[in-house]
Amino acid sequence: MSSKLYLVPTPIGNLQDFSPRAIATLKEADVIACEDTRTSRPLLEHFDIHNHTVSYHNFNEEESSKGLLALLDDGKTVAVISDAGYPLISDPGYSIVTKAIEKGHEVIALPGPNAALTALVASGLDTTHYLYYGFLSSKDSDARKQLEELKEIPYTLIFYEAPHRIIRTLNLCKEVLNDRNAVVARELTKLHEEKKRGTLSYLAKQEYRGEIVLMIEGYKKENKEDIDILLKQVEELMNNDMSLKEACKIIAEKSSFTKNDLYRAYVAKEKE
Ligand code: SAM
Repeated sequence: MSSKLYLVPTPIGNLQDFSPRAIATLKEADVIACEDTRTSRPLLEHFDIHNHTVSYHNFNEEESSKGLLALLDDGKTVAVISDAGYPLISDPGYSIVTKAIEKGHEVIALPGPNAALTALVASGLDTTHYLYYGFLSSKDSDARKQLEELKEIPYTLIFYEAPHRIIRTLNLCKEVLNDRNAVVARELTKLHEEKKRGTLSYLAKQEYRGEIVLMIEGYKKENKEDIDILLKQVEELMNNDMSLKEACKIIAEKSSFTKNDLYRAYVAKEKE
Protein backbone atom coordinates (compact mmCIF):
# COMPACT_ATOMS: atom_id res chain seq x y z
CA MET A 1 0.00 0.00 0.00
CA SER A 2 1.36 3.43 -0.81
CA SER A 3 0.73 6.21 1.69
CA LYS A 4 1.91 9.74 2.31
CA LEU A 5 4.85 11.32 4.04
CA TYR A 6 4.33 15.03 4.74
CA LEU A 7 7.20 17.44 5.40
CA VAL A 8 5.75 20.25 7.46
CA PRO A 9 7.63 23.50 8.17
CA THR A 10 7.07 25.09 11.59
CA PRO A 11 7.60 28.75 12.66
CA ILE A 12 11.15 30.07 13.11
CA GLY A 13 10.00 32.52 15.77
CA ASN A 14 6.61 33.99 14.97
CA LEU A 15 3.71 31.61 15.65
CA GLN A 16 1.54 33.43 13.13
CA ASP A 17 3.71 31.96 10.39
CA PHE A 18 2.30 28.48 11.06
CA SER A 19 0.02 28.02 8.05
CA PRO A 20 -3.56 26.75 8.34
CA ARG A 21 -2.60 23.94 5.94
CA ALA A 22 0.36 22.93 8.12
CA ILE A 23 -1.87 22.80 11.20
CA ALA A 24 -4.58 20.81 9.36
CA THR A 25 -1.99 18.35 7.99
CA LEU A 26 -0.58 17.72 11.46
CA LYS A 27 -4.07 17.25 12.91
CA GLU A 28 -4.85 14.66 10.26
CA ALA A 29 -1.58 12.71 10.46
CA ASP A 30 -1.55 9.30 12.14
CA VAL A 31 1.88 10.05 13.54
CA ILE A 32 3.93 13.24 13.90
CA ALA A 33 7.65 12.52 13.76
CA CYS A 34 9.45 15.28 15.70
CA GLU A 35 13.13 16.12 15.78
CA ASP A 36 12.58 16.49 19.53
CA THR A 37 9.14 15.85 21.02
CA ARG A 38 9.92 18.02 24.08
CA THR A 39 10.69 21.04 21.88
CA SER A 40 7.64 20.59 19.65
CA ARG A 41 5.13 19.84 22.41
CA PRO A 42 4.41 23.49 23.41
CA LEU A 43 3.90 24.43 19.74
CA LEU A 44 1.59 21.49 19.07
CA GLU A 45 -0.39 22.14 22.25
CA HIS A 46 -0.72 25.82 21.42
CA PHE A 47 -2.42 24.85 18.16
CA ASP A 48 -4.53 22.14 19.78
CA ILE A 49 -2.72 19.33 17.97
CA HIS A 50 -2.80 16.16 20.06
CA ASN A 51 -1.85 13.42 17.59
CA HIS A 52 0.61 10.69 18.47
CA THR A 53 4.23 11.94 18.34
CA VAL A 54 7.48 10.02 18.02
CA SER A 55 10.97 11.44 18.30
CA TYR A 56 13.22 11.49 15.30
CA HIS A 57 16.66 12.64 16.39
CA ASN A 58 19.65 13.25 14.21
CA PHE A 59 21.49 10.71 16.36
CA ASN A 60 19.07 7.83 15.71
CA GLU A 61 17.75 9.00 12.35
CA GLU A 62 18.69 5.80 10.54
CA GLU A 63 17.04 3.62 13.19
CA SER A 64 13.90 5.70 13.68
CA SER A 65 13.32 6.09 9.94
CA LYS A 66 12.90 2.29 9.77
CA GLY A 67 10.05 2.60 12.27
CA LEU A 68 8.48 5.44 10.28
CA LEU A 69 8.81 3.44 7.07
CA ALA A 70 6.95 0.53 8.71
CA LEU A 71 4.10 2.95 9.50
CA LEU A 72 4.00 4.15 5.89
CA ASP A 73 4.06 0.54 4.68
CA ASP A 74 1.07 -0.01 6.95
CA GLY A 75 -0.88 2.70 5.13
CA LYS A 76 -0.45 5.36 7.81
CA THR A 77 0.11 9.06 7.14
CA VAL A 78 3.31 10.40 8.71
CA ALA A 79 4.12 14.10 9.12
CA VAL A 80 7.72 15.11 9.82
CA ILE A 81 8.55 18.33 11.69
CA SER A 82 11.82 19.69 13.05
CA ASP A 83 12.39 22.07 15.96
CA ALA A 84 11.87 25.06 13.64
CA GLY A 85 11.62 25.83 9.93
CA TYR A 86 11.89 23.16 7.29
CA PRO A 87 12.79 19.60 8.17
CA LEU A 88 15.87 18.43 6.19
CA ILE A 89 17.28 21.98 5.96
CA SER A 90 20.17 21.70 8.44
CA ASP A 91 17.76 19.42 10.29
CA PRO A 92 16.93 15.70 10.22
CA GLY A 93 14.53 14.08 7.75
CA TYR A 94 16.67 13.06 4.78
CA SER A 95 16.81 9.39 5.69
CA ILE A 96 13.04 8.85 5.87
CA VAL A 97 12.49 10.84 2.66
CA THR A 98 14.89 8.65 0.66
CA LYS A 99 13.49 5.45 2.19
CA ALA A 100 9.89 6.51 1.48
CA ILE A 101 10.73 7.35 -2.15
CA GLU A 102 12.45 3.97 -2.61
CA LYS A 103 9.33 2.20 -1.37
CA GLY A 104 7.05 4.23 -3.67
CA HIS A 105 5.35 6.33 -0.99
CA GLU A 106 4.33 9.83 -1.93
CA VAL A 107 6.40 12.63 -0.33
CA ILE A 108 4.66 15.98 -0.01
CA ALA A 109 6.37 19.13 1.26
CA LEU A 110 4.29 22.05 2.46
CA PRO A 111 5.64 25.58 1.79
CA GLY A 112 6.50 27.61 4.87
CA PRO A 113 9.04 29.20 7.23
CA ASN A 114 12.75 28.83 6.53
CA ALA A 115 15.47 31.08 7.94
CA ALA A 116 17.77 31.02 4.88
CA LEU A 117 15.24 32.25 2.34
CA THR A 118 13.59 34.69 4.74
CA ALA A 119 17.03 36.24 5.26
CA LEU A 120 18.09 36.16 1.62
CA VAL A 121 15.15 37.98 0.11
CA ALA A 122 15.57 40.92 2.51
CA SER A 123 19.37 40.97 2.32
CA GLY A 124 19.82 43.19 -0.73
CA LEU A 125 22.36 40.67 -2.06
CA ASP A 126 21.88 38.95 -5.41
CA THR A 127 18.97 36.51 -5.30
CA THR A 128 19.22 35.25 -8.90
CA HIS A 129 21.66 32.52 -7.89
CA TYR A 130 22.54 31.56 -4.34
CA LEU A 131 24.23 28.70 -2.55
CA TYR A 132 22.83 27.53 0.76
CA TYR A 133 25.67 25.99 2.76
CA GLY A 134 24.21 25.61 6.24
CA PHE A 135 26.72 25.43 9.11
CA LEU A 136 30.47 25.62 8.55
CA SER A 137 32.52 23.22 10.66
CA SER A 138 33.15 24.33 14.24
CA LYS A 139 36.80 23.34 13.73
CA ASP A 140 38.70 26.28 12.23
CA SER A 141 40.94 24.21 9.96
CA ASP A 142 37.94 22.33 8.50
CA ALA A 143 35.90 25.53 8.11
CA ARG A 144 38.82 27.09 6.25
CA LYS A 145 38.89 24.14 3.83
CA GLN A 146 35.14 24.39 3.29
CA LEU A 147 35.47 28.10 2.52
CA GLU A 148 38.33 27.43 0.08
CA GLU A 149 35.88 25.29 -1.91
CA LEU A 150 33.40 28.18 -2.03
CA LYS A 151 35.96 30.86 -2.81
CA GLU A 152 35.27 31.23 -6.52
CA ILE A 153 31.55 30.55 -6.54
CA PRO A 154 29.85 33.60 -8.09
CA TYR A 155 26.60 33.16 -6.13
CA THR A 156 25.43 34.65 -2.85
CA LEU A 157 26.57 32.32 -0.05
CA ILE A 158 24.20 31.56 2.83
CA PHE A 159 25.39 30.16 6.16
CA TYR A 160 23.77 29.40 9.48
CA GLU A 161 25.88 30.19 12.52
CA ALA A 162 25.65 30.09 16.28
CA PRO A 163 25.99 33.48 18.04
CA HIS A 164 29.10 32.42 20.00
CA ARG A 165 30.89 31.50 16.76
CA ILE A 166 29.79 34.28 14.40
CA ILE A 167 32.80 36.56 14.99
CA ARG A 168 35.27 33.74 14.33
CA THR A 169 33.30 32.82 11.17
CA LEU A 170 33.23 36.41 9.89
CA ASN A 171 37.00 36.63 10.40
CA LEU A 172 37.63 33.28 8.69
CA CYS A 173 35.42 34.32 5.77
CA LYS A 174 37.33 37.57 5.44
CA GLU A 175 40.65 35.72 5.39
CA VAL A 176 39.60 33.14 2.82
CA LEU A 177 37.04 35.00 0.67
CA ASN A 178 38.54 38.50 1.07
CA ASP A 179 36.69 41.48 2.48
CA ARG A 180 33.39 41.13 0.61
CA ASN A 181 30.03 42.71 1.33
CA ALA A 182 27.87 40.65 3.62
CA VAL A 183 24.69 40.73 5.68
CA VAL A 184 24.03 39.29 9.11
CA ALA A 185 20.30 38.72 9.70
CA ARG A 186 19.30 37.79 13.22
CA GLU A 187 16.19 36.90 15.14
CA LEU A 188 14.10 36.75 11.97
CA THR A 189 10.33 37.02 12.46
CA LYS A 190 10.91 37.84 16.16
CA LEU A 191 10.61 41.02 18.21
CA HIS A 192 14.30 41.95 17.87
CA GLU A 193 14.70 41.10 14.18
CA GLU A 194 17.71 42.95 12.75
CA LYS A 195 19.93 43.07 9.69
CA LYS A 196 23.47 44.40 9.70
CA ARG A 197 25.05 45.15 6.35
CA GLY A 198 28.66 45.94 5.47
CA THR A 199 32.03 44.41 4.70
CA LEU A 200 33.09 41.27 6.54
CA SER A 201 35.70 43.27 8.47
CA TYR A 202 33.04 45.80 9.59
CA LEU A 203 30.61 43.04 10.57
CA ALA A 204 33.34 41.22 12.53
CA LYS A 205 33.60 44.26 14.82
CA GLN A 206 29.90 44.19 15.83
CA GLU A 207 28.17 42.25 18.60
CA TYR A 208 25.53 39.58 18.04
CA ARG A 209 22.95 37.66 20.00
CA GLY A 210 20.23 35.23 19.04
CA GLU A 211 19.76 33.15 15.91
CA ILE A 212 21.80 34.15 12.91
CA VAL A 213 21.94 33.81 9.13
CA LEU A 214 25.10 35.08 7.43
CA MET A 215 25.01 35.93 3.73
CA ILE A 216 28.06 36.90 1.67
CA GLU A 217 28.17 38.26 -1.86
CA GLY A 218 29.44 35.83 -4.45
CA TYR A 219 32.89 35.83 -6.00
CA LYS A 220 33.41 38.65 -8.46
CA LYS A 221 36.16 38.68 -11.00
CA GLU A 222 37.16 42.16 -9.81
CA ASN A 223 38.26 40.66 -6.49
CA LYS A 224 40.87 38.67 -8.35
CA GLU A 225 41.84 41.63 -10.52
CA ASP A 226 42.19 43.77 -7.39
CA ILE A 227 44.61 41.35 -5.85
CA ASP A 228 46.58 41.07 -9.11
CA ILE A 229 47.14 44.83 -9.08
CA LEU A 230 48.30 44.66 -5.47
CA LEU A 231 50.63 41.75 -6.24
CA LYS A 232 52.25 43.84 -9.00
CA GLN A 233 52.87 46.57 -6.43
CA VAL A 234 54.40 43.97 -4.10
CA GLU A 235 56.68 42.91 -6.93
CA GLU A 236 57.75 46.50 -7.60
CA LEU A 237 58.81 46.88 -3.98
CA MET A 238 60.68 43.59 -4.16
CA ASN A 239 62.51 44.86 -7.25
CA ASN A 240 63.70 47.64 -4.99
CA ASP A 241 65.34 45.14 -2.65
CA MET A 242 62.50 44.68 -0.24
CA SER A 243 61.67 41.23 1.14
CA LEU A 244 58.35 39.60 0.18
CA LYS A 245 57.22 39.78 3.78
CA GLU A 246 57.96 43.49 4.11
CA ALA A 247 56.41 44.31 0.73
CA CYS A 248 53.20 42.47 1.63
CA LYS A 249 53.04 44.35 4.93
CA ILE A 250 53.33 47.76 3.25
CA ILE A 251 50.83 47.06 0.46
CA ALA A 252 48.36 45.43 2.86
CA GLU A 253 48.22 48.64 4.90
CA LYS A 254 46.45 50.46 2.07
CA SER A 255 44.19 47.62 1.01
CA SER A 256 41.41 45.46 2.41
CA PHE A 257 43.69 42.41 2.22
CA THR A 258 45.89 41.34 5.13
CA LYS A 259 49.65 40.87 4.74
CA ASN A 260 49.02 37.12 5.04
CA ASP A 261 46.40 37.23 2.24
CA LEU A 262 48.91 38.94 -0.03
CA TYR A 263 51.76 36.66 1.01
CA ARG A 264 49.69 33.53 0.32
CA ALA A 265 48.38 34.94 -2.98
CA TYR A 266 51.91 35.86 -4.10
CA VAL A 267 53.30 32.42 -3.29
CA ALA A 268 50.32 30.73 -4.98
CA LYS A 269 50.82 32.87 -8.11
CA GLU A 270 54.51 32.00 -8.21
CA LYS A 271 53.57 28.32 -8.20
CA GLU A 272 51.08 28.68 -11.11
N1 SAM B 1 15.37 23.99 9.57
C1 SAM B 1 15.63 25.36 9.87
C2 SAM B 1 15.26 26.24 8.65
O1 SAM B 1 14.52 25.77 7.77
O2 SAM B 1 15.67 27.39 8.61
C3 SAM B 1 17.06 25.57 10.33
C4 SAM B 1 17.46 24.74 11.50
S1 SAM B 1 19.10 24.98 12.03
C5 SAM B 1 19.30 23.66 13.16
C6 SAM B 1 18.99 26.34 13.10
C7 SAM B 1 19.71 27.56 12.57
O3 SAM B 1 18.87 28.25 11.64
C8 SAM B 1 20.05 28.60 13.64
O4 SAM B 1 21.26 28.29 14.30
C9 SAM B 1 20.16 29.86 12.81
O5 SAM B 1 21.40 29.90 12.16
C10 SAM B 1 19.05 29.65 11.76
N2 SAM B 1 17.80 30.24 12.24
C11 SAM B 1 16.71 29.58 12.69
N3 SAM B 1 15.75 30.45 13.05
C12 SAM B 1 16.24 31.69 12.83
C13 SAM B 1 15.75 33.01 13.01
N4 SAM B 1 14.54 33.23 13.50
N5 SAM B 1 16.55 34.05 12.66
C14 SAM B 1 17.77 33.84 12.14
N6 SAM B 1 18.29 32.62 11.96
C15 SAM B 1 17.55 31.56 12.30
